[in-house]
Amino acid sequence: MKLNENYAKMPGSYLFSEIARRVAAFSSEHMGREIISLGIGDVTLPLVPAVTEAMAKAVAEMGVAATFRGYGPEQGYAFLRDAIVEHDFASLGIGITAADIFISDGAKSDCGNIVDLFDADNRVAVCDPVYPVYVDTNAMAGRAGEYDSETGRWSNLIYLSCVKENGFIPTPPKEKADLIYLCFPNNPTGTTATREQLAEWVDYALYHDSILLFDAAYEAFITDPNIPHSIYEIPGSEHCAIEFRSFSKTAGFTGTRCGYTVIPAALERHGQSLRAMWNRRQCTKFNGTAYVVQRGAEAVYTPEGQAQIRANIEIYRNNAALIRQGLEDAGLTVFGGRNAPYIWAETPNGMSSWDTFDLLLREAGVVTTPGAGFGPCGEGYFRLSAFGDPQKVPQAMTRIRIALGR
Ligand code: PLP
Repeated sequence: MKLNENYAKMPGSYLFSEIARRVAAFSSEHMGREIISLGIGDVTLPLVPAVTEAMAKAVAEMGVAATFRGYGPEQGYAFLRDAIVEHDFASLGIGITAADIFISDGAKSDCGNIVDLFDADNRVAVCDPVYPVYVDTNAMAGRAGEYDSETGRWSNLIYLSCVKENGFIPTPPKEKADLIYLCFPNNPTGTTATREQLAEWVDYALYHDSILLFDAAYEAFITDPNIPHSIYEIPGSEHCAIEFRSFSKTAGFTGTRCGYTVIPAALERHGQSLRAMWNRRQCTKFNGTAYVVQRGAEAVYTPEGQAQIRANIEIYRNNAALIRQGLEDAGLTVFGGRNAPYIWAETPNGMSSWDTFDLLLREAGVVTTPGAGFGPCGEGYFRLSAFGDPQKVPQAMTRIRIALGR
C-alpha cells in the first residue's frame, strides 16, 4: 500500500485556517471586542426570495410521489442548462449550447476536478498571486513538482507574476505552458482584463495548443460594457478554453452550492473531445447537483430573481466603493474593487502583509487577508472583501483610518 506522496509535499496550513487561528487567539484575549470580518470572500446577504420560494416549491414536489425526483442527469437538468445558455451566453451573441454546460456543486470542485482530464506531464501556468485551489489541486495530482518553502513556489509550475508594473494582468510567458489558469475579475487583486488582453491569451493558447482554464466566478460584478464577462466573447476561444462559473457570489449560493463548467463542442485535442471526456468523468464520479438547488439556481434567471440578485450585488459594489475610498483616505494605494468584489491595497510603510494583518486585527479589530497568502508576489499587499456586512463596512473603514493614524 502506497499513499499519494504528493500530499506530504503540501505546505502546512491553508491560508484561511491560519487567519481563523489568529482571529480566535485575538478574540479569546480581547473578549467583547467586536471584530469585523472583511477577510474571507464569503457572502453575508441571504438568498433572495425568488430563490428560496423556488426551492421551497421544489422541496414540496420532492414530498409527493407524482413529482418526486430521484437521480437526476449527471450534467444537470435541461431547465437550468437552457436558462444558462439563454441568459449567460446567447444574450452576448455567444454560440454555447446546453450540451456544453455541466451543472455542479460549485466552481471549486470543478476547478479541482478538471485536472483529471490532463496528463501529469503537462506544464501548468498560474498567476502569482493566485486563488490557491489551482496550485494545490495540481500539486496533489503530482503536476507541480517540489515545493520550495524559501521561495513559496513549486518547481514545475510556471508563475505569471502579477505586479503593479503590469497592472496585475499576466502576460503570456516565453516558454510553452500547456494549461493556463486565468481568473477575471481576479481573486485576489480585483483587476479585470480587457478584450485585447484576453485575445492575447487566446492567440497564445491557439498557437501552442494550450488550454485556458478561465474562472469567471466573479463576472456578475462587471458593469463596464468594455470588459468581457466570458472568455467566449473572444473569437477562437471555443477551440482553447474551458470556463468555470458559480452561483456563489452571483446569487449568495456559497452555502447552497451550485456552479457550472462550460466545455464547447469545438474543444478537441488529439482527436478527442474534451466535452466528451468531462461528460465521461462526471457520469463516473458525480451524481448530479440536488434538484432543489437547481430549481433555486433556475430562479436566479427569472425577471424577479434578476432584479433581486442585482440589488444585492449593488450593495456589495457599494461596499467595494466605500472600502476603496476608506483605504485611500487612510493614505494607502489601492487597486481593484471597481468591477470586482475584492480590493487589493499596498501595505502601509512597506510593512509585511502578515504584519499588516496583525496590526489591523489588533488596532482596528478588522479581519483582512494578507497578500502573501496568495503567493510571493502578494507580499506587500492585503486584500479586503466587499462581501462584508454593509452595516459594518463604514465602521470598519473608520477604524482602519484611525489605526493607521489618519
Ligand atoms: N473561483 C474563485 C476565483 C473563487 O474565489 C472561489 C471562491 O471563493 C471559487 C472559484 C469557488 O466558488 P464556489 O463557491 O462555486 O465553489
